Amino acid sequence: MEQRFNADQSDHRGPTLSCGCGLQARYAGRRAKTVQSALGELTLERAYYHCDACEAGFYPRDRALGLQGSSLSPAVTRMVGRVGAMVSFVEGSALMQELAAVPVDPKQVERTAEALGREIAEDERRRVEPEPPAAPTMYLGMDGTGVPMRASELAGRAGKSPDGSAKTREVKLCTVWTAEGRDDEGLPVRDPGSVSYSAAIESAASRDTDEAPSEFAQRADREARRRGFDQADRRVVLGDGAPWIWNLADEQFPGAIQIVDLFHAKQHLSDVAKAIYGPGGDLGRPWAKQRHDELDEGQQEAVLQALRVHAEAHDEARKCLDYVTRNQLRMRYPEFRAQGLCVSSGVVEAGCKVAIATRLKRAGMRWTVSGADAIIALRCCQLSGRFEDFWERRSAAAGPGAR
Ligand SMILES: [Zn+2]
Repeated sequence: MEQRFNADQSDHRGPTLSCGCGLQARYAGRRAKTVQSALGELTLERAYYHCDACEAGFYPRDRALGLQGSSLSPAVTRMVGRVGAMVSFVEGSALMQELAAVPVDPKQVERTAEALGREIAEDERRRVEPEPPAAPTMYLGMDGTGVPMRASELAGRAGKSPDGSAKTREVKLCTVWTAEGRDDEGLPVRDPGSVSYSAAIESAASRDTDEAPSEFAQRADREARRRGFDQADRRVVLGDGAPWIWNLADEQFPGAIQIVDLFHAKQHLSDVAKAIYGPGGDLGRPWAKQRHDELDEGQQEAVLQALRVHAEAHDEARKCLDYVTRNQLRMRYPEFRAQGLCVSSGVVEAGCKVAIATRLKRAGMRWTVSGADAIIALRCCQLSGRFEDFWERRSAAAGPGAR
């Protein structure tokens, strides 16, 4: 293959070629580059054109083959994109060796996966191809989760640790899905394969003086349009109790039904039980169970009453009292269920685990914002089943032969 490549010198297209600057670059001989391909290492000789004005040059063949600025073939780049989204860079390097017998060191896996992730993130911001809603009822969930950062990324930021410093930055996640299927008890369940994800370390706060919605509000809006959420007969926004979620829902999706994910609400009450009765559980568990049942049955007043009893002595109980009080309209579970709505999907919670935590919150990992955002974009793209489409577009843009 190497011989065939190097025998073909059609990339020499005369003594000069136009440079991007508008001037002419002159042919300066053939130069070799070693490329990792899926078939092994190839040393390719390519025509080089140098532009004196730019003090730089280019290789027409690298452009045609998608090898610009990379020593990995497109097929290997794509494999690295796959493994880099799934596992750590060190594990990814080992997988490349084991499965494809292609040596790519961990640093190169990192650089390549992050560069690809940045391309995907840019593509996500630029392209929205609206689709009709996949079902009459569409669900959109939002959540946030902290990702551990390098100290240099956190300088001057206030955080939750005892000394007031920050250890993490919050990734905000938006997920869209349908739940037309029913389980044995007739309750709605998430339709397999219907979930899409979009996430980044972005602000969700917009002030009255801001002309544009916050970065994350724009992200949620793009994802909603992409999935036809905005066109659905019935739109449901699910989230935990975080105020930013409901502010954003009010602004971006007015008229959508707002539901506090029952999973979150129950977890909140279980945490209160632990705070009141200790983590052992013998006394706390029945207390929590009773509150959970009351939530299921729509007895919010009973929940509030039980929390009031402990509000003075326990901070957790007081906070939870505020939380239930604030979100009462979003916790009308029997009513929502009667309308056939999904209230306790766990999809949003699972989304944070699947899309973010399993890859980015592992022992010893410390990220930069740009590195984390790139890998998050790469991962969301793949989990949402959009990697193929992206790759097709990327190959088409690079030119024929770049696959
Ligand atoms: Zn030039």
